[in-house]
Amino acid sequence: MEFQFDLIIVGAGSGGLAAAKRAASYGAKVAIIEVNKVGGTCVIRGCVPKKLMVYAAKSKKNMISSEGYGLKSEGIIFESKILLKNVREEVSRLSNLHKNSLKKLNITIFEGLGRFITQNELEIICPKSKKILNKVSSKKILISVGGKPKKLNIPGIDLAWTSDDIFELDGFPDSILIVGGGYIACEFASIFRNLGTEVTQLIRGKSLLNGFDEDLSSCLEESTTSAGINIISSHQLKSIRRVNENLESTLDSGEKIITKNILIATGREPNLMPLNLDFLNLKMDGSYLDVDEFNQTSNPNIFAIGDIINKPNLTPVAIEQGRVFSDNFFNNQKRKVNYEYIPKAVFTIPEISTVGLSEKRAKEIYDDKNIKIFKCKFTPMSNTFIENKSKCMLKIIVNKLTDKVIGCHMFGETSSEIIQMVSISLNAGITKKDFDITMALHPTISEEFVTMYG
Ligand code: NDP
Repeated sequence: MEFQFDLIIVGAGSGGLAAAKRAASYGAKVAIIEVNKVGGTCVIRGCVPKKLMVYAAKSKKNMISSEGYGLKSEGIIFESKILLKNVREEVSRLSNLHKNSLKKLNITIFEGLGRFITQNELEIICPKSKKILNKVSSKKILISVGGKPKKLNIPGIDLAWTSDDIFELDGFPDSILIVGGGYIACEFASIFRNLGTEVTQLIRGKSLLNGFDEDLSSCLEESTTSAGINIISSHQLKSIRRVNENLESTLDSGEKIITKNILIATGREPNLMPLNLDFLNLKMDGSYLDVDEFNQTSNPNIFAIGDIINKPNLTPVAIEQGRVFSDNFFNNQKRKVNYEYIPKAVFTIPEISTVGLSEKRAKEIYDDKNIKIFKCKFTPMSNTFIENKSKCMLKIIVNKLTDKVIGCHMFGETSSEIIQMVSISLNAGITKKDFDITMALHPTISEEFVTMYG
């Protein structure tokens, strides 16, 4: 059978775009199908617009707390409309940049919903009219459709927002209930609170950011509480109903919380349903598509990357998966994605960053007696003249048997920038001795990483 393309990619998010550009650079005839704006979760309704909002929140926080430095800023007015409009414009600019770069590489863009009709063919459907716009075929098909927010199955759930809705708002609410204690919940709690919204955060467990090093969670809890966010732990949301202009949330305890809006941030799930995959009987890994180390599904023509496979659902991971896929199948390489030491950050204010194992996980793997912890917590110099003296925390986890540093964690300003660099050294197999013989750069926060002895 003659195919129209060497590669069709379904989903123009970070992973799909990276795979398309890399495959086209090797001379492959590539098409990409996208139902929304080109850019995917990260560019359109995730990392990029969120980080721009974080900058807004940080700017306001800095303005408020600069009096000790002799800077008076009376009557700060935050106009959320302006921020939201500017963020949307920037997102459109970036989306167009991606679109143009696809065109320059002669990658065909099909706008619509991709739906499998055979293992090598897809039809492209108009999401509004449901009409078939096109039929396309390809030797290989890469699925990179990403995820969507998981919704709770409770009465009134449609009254609540998911993170997707935040970027479509006309203005910020006066008060909000945020359900969840993960990345999205903590980041938006911080953005909203620092920009003036009353925030209540509801978590079903005892602590924020489960799975992160416990010291990071407790630093975040301290700063969240001192920022004025009301955390309700060990409870669940049971129902939502509209009461006049507000929403009333009822918890499992019977307690009722009245807020203007509710954000549900209880995780994300693969967005596979519209693809019509059932007849292909692809092997699944829970709700994810099962793939081998080369991102091949159980069908040899079909591949998957990004948030639809059971790997860390992070933009740089999807990009690398996309590039590795194209290097392997369009340039005869035998590359594998390196999943070790993936740096992670939660962009709260201050932010949290981490690479490697948490203390708990390190002790589970190597035994308590083989793990040494180095830790310091202090007021950073930048907070000297600031009333709310939030502390920063740096932590190193060392395997005593090899002296290797197997985890680094940091809570504090710019920690994501620092941990990105630290992750290079962990990947290279750095030892604690290497940290110790590295000269400090004074006065910085990160110098503590090379001056913690014990
Ligand atoms: P997370 O998995 O980070 O957090 C989900 C939260 O929801 C947890 O606190 C979880 O509680 C809670 N939860 C899950 N189910 C329920 C339920 N039925 N009732 C009440 N609470 C529930 O998901 P997010 O939605 O925050 O983010 C999704 C993914 O997106 C992240 O895992 C990450 O991969 C990515 N992301 C990355 C960012 C970054 O890199 N900075 C930013 C935003 C998203 P519990 O802990 O008890 O399970």
